[in-house]
Amino acid sequence: MRLFPQSIRWRLTLWFGLTLALILAAFSAGIYTFVHTRLLKQLDGQLGKEFAAVKRILREEPAEIVELEEDGIALASVSEGSTLVHRTNDWRRAELDKAIKSGGTRRPGRPWSWARGERSYRLMADSVRTDGRTFHVAVAVDARPIRRSLRTLALMLATGFPCALVLAMVGGYFLAGRLLAPVGAMAAKAREITADRLAERLPVVNPADEFGRLATVFNETLGRLEDAFERLKRFTADASHELRTPLTAIRSVGEVALQEPLDVAAARDAIGSMLEEADRLSRLVDNLLVLTRADSGRVSLAVEPLDLAALLRDVADCLGVLAEEKNQTVEVEIAEPLTVEADRITLRMALINLLDNAIRYTPSGGRIRLVVRRMGDRAAIEVADTGPGIPPEHREKVFERFYRVGLDRSSETGGAGLGLAIARWAVEINGGRIELESEEGRGSTFRILLPERKGGETA
Ligand code: ADP
Repeated sequence: MRLFPQSIRWRLTLWFGLTLALILAAFSAGIYTFVHTRLLKQLDGQLGKEFAAVKRILREEPAEIVELEEDGIALASVSEGSTLVHRTNDWRRAELDKAIKSGGTRRPGRPWSWARGERSYRLMADSVRTDGRTFHVAVAVDARPIRRSLRTLALMLATGFPCALVLAMVGGYFLAGRLLAPVGAMAAKAREITADRLAERLPVVNPADEFGRLATVFNETLGRLEDAFERLKRFTADASHELRTPLTAIRSVGEVALQEPLDVAAARDAIGSMLEEADRLSRLVDNLLVLTRADSGRVSLAVEPLDLAALLRDVADCLGVLAEEKNQTVEVEIAEPLTVEADRITLRMALINLLDNAIRYTPSGGRIRLVVRRMGDRAAIEVADTGPGIPPEHREKVFERFYRVGLDRSSETGGAGLGLAIARWAVEINGGRIELESEEGRGSTFRILLPERKGGETA
């Protein structure tokens, strides 16, 4: 069994109760001590006065010592040596001589308390010298009234203490319950949220308090999770769809080829188109892998100074054959030699994708320019073609995954719509940005802007 309860509500109540109990105990003890001291002081004052009165009588009118009661002194005893001079009746009845005996060790002239059963007295004794004689004077006052008052006070404090504590703890328990109610509601709601119900949100009672802020932050996290889940779902659906197209093509080419006897040329033809589809499939899988790795954030970059002129020439050489097949010219224009700090592999991948698009979408005989120039404090690489251009309503969307202008997925030129998404990711991961300028019917210009390498113009 746990000594301390698990519930915050109970823990709060207990801490609250414990603190209050300590405060109340200190407060009660303080009050009791204060009242006790004050009452005792009053009593001692009276005792002092009575003692002084007896002393005065002894000095001024010793004969009247036997009439102490008449002077309002009810409890007094005067003796000389072992001879009793006078003792009031009440003193005798109260058997206060016993008190004198038991208090004999006390310092003379200092009051002390004496109690026997229900009886309680405050006493003072001292010697009084007058006319060469030494009297032993003892006076007492009844301390029962103050004892009763103190007992009543103690009783009030003792009953008030637990009552106040219980009331405060009950109040604290309900208050803690009220304050913690949003947590219960949040927990109940959070329990309902599953992967299929990510659109649900936690209730926010007061957005300004701690629980409200917690719920808001949690809701924001849920929002991001929901987005990520949505994107993942869309990506998986699109990817499966894209993978199905070449697979269906391979399958139907195979089925048709199997249906009738083929001569060698027809068989080669069928195998050729199957290989073409397989090629398309493997490119698609490669692209999907790149994007998956990009999403996982586990891409390691080897950032190094890159001479853009050399990089552009390399890319142009790499895809030159494709352009040649379509009678296109690819020109590399280096307005000024520039160096950037970037990862060669990812930046090259972005450029290859842009140039590949330019070649694919520009009709035969077109012209493609790869330009390096400075734009403000950045290095710009432009891939400009004389193709059909991209209509304004598609310009932002072409960078989205699986987005294509014109939905002809089976067309010769069209890919899966991943090239520009990969290019944008590759540029952004290198600290750059990609822009598109296009004039419909007159061509498109994709521009990569990268921060120029500080202090270096050439590699
Ligand atoms: P895809 O693999 O289909 O080429 P991309 O992401 O590379 O996918 O391009 C998205 C779409 O943008 C393409 O379907 C195409 O319609 C359009 N596009 C890309 N580059 C060009 C270009 N240079 N000229 C005209 N349209 C282009």
